[in-house]
Amino acid sequence: MAARQIRRDRPSCRLGTPHTPQDSPPTQTSSLDRPRGNSHADQAMLDKTVLFDSLTRQLPEAIDLLRQMVEINSWTENRAGVNRLGDLTADVFAQLGFKPEKVPSENPEWGDHLVLTRHGSSNANVAMVSHLDTVFPPEEEELNNFRWQIEGDRIYGPGTHDIKGGTVMMWLVLRTIRELMPAVFDRLGWRLFFNSSEETTSHDFGRVCRDRFDKDTIAALVFESEGRRGQTRRLVVARKGRATWRVTVTGRGAHAGGRHPQGANAIVELGRVVQRISSFTDYSCDLTFNVGLIRGGGGLNRVPHFAVAEGELRAFRTDVFEEAKSALLGLRGPGEVRSPADGFPCNINVEFLSETAPWPRNPATDSLLEVWQRAATELGFEVEGEERGGLSDGNLLWRAVPTIDGLGPHGENDHCSERSPDGSKVPEYVEISSFVPKAALNVLAIGLDLNRPTASIFQPA
Ligand SMILES: [Zn+2]
Repeated sequence: MAARQIRRDRPSCRLGTPHTPQDSPPTQTSSLDRPRGNSHADQAMLDKTVLFDSLTRQLPEAIDLLRQMVEINSWTENRAGVNRLGDLTADVFAQLGFKPEKVPSENPEWGDHLVLTRHGSSNANVAMVSHLDTVFPPEEEELNNFRWQIEGDRIYGPGTHDIKGGTVMMWLVLRTIRELMPAVFDRLGWRLFFNSSEETTSHDFGRVCRDRFDKDTIAALVFESEGRRGQTRRLVVARKGRATWRVTVTGRGAHAGGRHPQGANAIVELGRVVQRISSFTDYSCDLTFNVGLIRGGGGLNRVPHFAVAEGELRAFRTDVFEEAKSALLGLRGPGEVRSPADGFPCNINVEFLSETAPWPRNPATDSLLEVWQRAATELGFEVEGEERGGLSDGNLLWRAVPTIDGLGPHGENDHCSERSPDGSKVPEYVEISSFVPKAALNVLAIGLDLNRPTASIFQPA
């Protein structure tokens, strides 16, 4: 009986069905691959050697900028640190002609969001997105001696790839476009958005961006770290949505010795409920439920009247995500655990604590991926799309403008500060060698906007 009930309630994943209307692209499709004129001056200046020489020459300065950023603790809750990093970021981009705007966070405990703008001679605009905050409190950095540290090709330290390395990548890319493709740099408008509190999935930042996107924004480029599959570089083209939830069970308390049959045991009921929730996970449609926290009861001699569990659910597809939420809400009402004395039932309540909608695979993002793949072909390496489970600001933006993510350098172990002597635990690091090729890729992909889609951006040898 119970098993059949679970099957009926569980979300049905209709794999292979076409995108739902909600999953369709923004009305504006990417125009990065639309041919545009007047690029010949820049095109003539671009060859691979010049591009790589320029980036290699600038790399030490980029690494030094990264060091300055990593040495500022910018844990989300360190408001002063986040704002100090915002000031440094504004100063550095001011040298490229960007004007700062500080936008207070909805939560007054957090630092200001930062928006940097440089107007272009045309209406066409490119948005770039990063964040100022990290997940590391200063005490944790101290405790684990987690700080700027170069070992071979790796730089360890808080935020080295999530996401200060991404911010430095933005700077390197823009500086190089200014140097090698000045007509592109001046023609496009640029808006750079820095979330003060990305690690808490602050939703007000989505509004900050969307309110400031120009009408002709070509793309939102998010500089979270690159993925890898072997030698293949992976850009993020979809991210799961996430809803966090709380299930509260109320039963009826009773003396566990004298009045046991009077009780309706809330913990026993919650045990049944979390089993059902867990069974909703369906890897075949990338739907996961995680029961993350549980508590209840008040003493060993009491039949508990109260128990609560919290967790999250994640899915890539909007329809799967919505069905999953409905399935969870379907658990509300009287439970199956009752008082043996009079049938008094436990009651189940379900509430959602937060929600970030999925960023599903969509044609506008895929068209941006194609631009980056064409640029990669020019450089002789491979790029593919990755659908990533974790959230980013891309989740908040893809409906407004075509969005692609994963444009930062490559690193590993984000959100980890621990190191063990046997090497089984290693903290967050970025790979120095990933900056120049990735910056070259980003420079070319943005430059491709001005070129015929199939033509080589490089002049013939
Ligand atoms: Zn990040």
